[in-house]
Amino acid sequence: MASSSSSLTETRSPELRKDPINNRWVIFSPARAKRPSDFKSKFSENQNSNSSSPCPFCIGNEHHCAPEIFRVPSNLNVDWKIRVIQNLYPALSRDIDGEKDGEISGGFPGRVVPGFGFHDVVIEAPVHSVNLLDLDPTEVGEVLLAYKKRIEQIKERDLIKYVQVFKNHGPSAGASLSHSHSQILALPVVPPTVSARLYSLKEYFDQTGKCGLCEVQPKDLLIDETSYFTSIAPFAATFPFEIWIIPRYHSSHFHDLDSEKATDLGGLLKLMLRKMSMQLNNPPFNFMIHSSPLEVTEAQLPYSHWYLQIVPKLIGVAGFEIGTGCYINPVFPEDAAKVLREVAVN
Ligand code: AMP
Ligand code: ZN
Ligand code: ZN
Repeated sequence: MASSSSSLTETRSPELRKDPINNRWVIFSPARAKRPSDFKSKFSENQNSNSSSPCPFCIGNEHHCAPEIFRVPSNLNVDWKIRVIQNLYPALSRDIDGEKDGEISGGFPGRVVPGFGFHDVVIEAPVHSVNLLDLDPTEVGEVLLAYKKRIEQIKERDLIKYVQVFKNHGPSAGASLSHSHSQILALPVVPPTVSARLYSLKEYFDQTGKCGLCEVQPKDLLIDETSYFTSIAPFAATFPFEIWIIPRYHSSHFHDLDSEKATDLGGLLKLMLRKMSMQLNNPPFNFMIHSSPLEVTEAQLPYSHWYLQIVPKLIGVAGFEIGTGCYINPVFPEDAAKVLREVAVN
C-alpha cells in the first residue's frame, strides 16, 4: 500500500503529489512542522520562550547543526567563512528510495512520487550580525561559488531534475532564523514555473530565432550593469521594486559560472541589496536563482538562459493572487528602476 494512505505519524516520509487540475506539485513534508523559529521568540518575549537558545549557525555552534557537507576554506585548521550543511528539517529526504513508485489511494486523480531530494543550508558568514550585503564582492562571489559546487555534486544524482537556490531574509519573507543563510533544494521533478518559463522562451525563439533574455534592451528599466551582468526592473514586474540580474552572455545554467564572473555577480548582487536596503528601509526579501532543468536538450540550449530575481517583501499575497495566479503591482518598473538607479550607496 502506498505511503499516502498511511496514518498521520511522525515517521512518515515526505512525498510529492501532483494536483492534475492546477498542474501543480505540492511537497508534503512532516519534518517541516518541527522546525524552530527565533522570530517567534522575539514576538513572545514576555512569555520567556526559546529566546535564550543559541544560534546554530554561529561559529562555535557547529554541534547544534545537521551534518556539514563542505566548508570554505576546506582547511579544518582555520576558521570557516562559509558552511554548506544538511537542513535539520528537510522538505525532502536524501535517505529514501526515490525509484519506488507510489500508488494513489482514494478517489483523487493524481500522481505520487517519493519525496527524495536534497535540502541544504548555506551559512553565508560565521558571525551572526554579518549579512550578505556586508561582505565584499569576492566574498559574495565565494557564496555563489559554494552554490555552484553543491549543484555540481547534486547533479551527479540521476533522479534529481531541478535545483532551486533561494534566500529568505526577514520573518515575513519566510526566514525562521536571522543568521545570514540561503538554501538549496534539489527536486525529483521540474517545477511548473520552470517548464512554463522554458515554454515561453521557446515560443519567442521560434518566432524570432533569438533568446528572449539575451535580447533584453533595458533602456529606462536599467538599474546598473557590470562586465558580465545587467540589473533591471523587469518590464512586467510581479512585485514592486523587483530586480532581475541577468547574465549578458548566453548561459542556460547558473552552475556554469566561473570565479571571475562570480566576483562580478557578487559585486552587483551586493550593490542591489544595498540599494534596496537604503531605499526601502532594510525590507525583508527573497532572492531566487532561476536556472534551467539539469538536463536540457540540444534544441533547448539556444533559448534557455538563467537569471537571479530579487523580491523585496513590501506587499502581501492574498485571495486574488491565490485565486488567479495574477498579481497586482502598484509600482511601475520604470519608476522603480529610476529610484534604484539614483539611490547613492557609500
Ligand atoms: P529559513 O527558514 O528560510 O530561515 O531557513 C533556515 C533553515 O534552517 C530552515 O529550513 C530550517 O529547517 C533549517 N535549520 C534550522 N535549524 C537548523 C540546524 N540546527 N541545522 C541545520 N538546519 C537547520
Ligand atoms: Zn548566528
Ligand atoms: Zn540568452
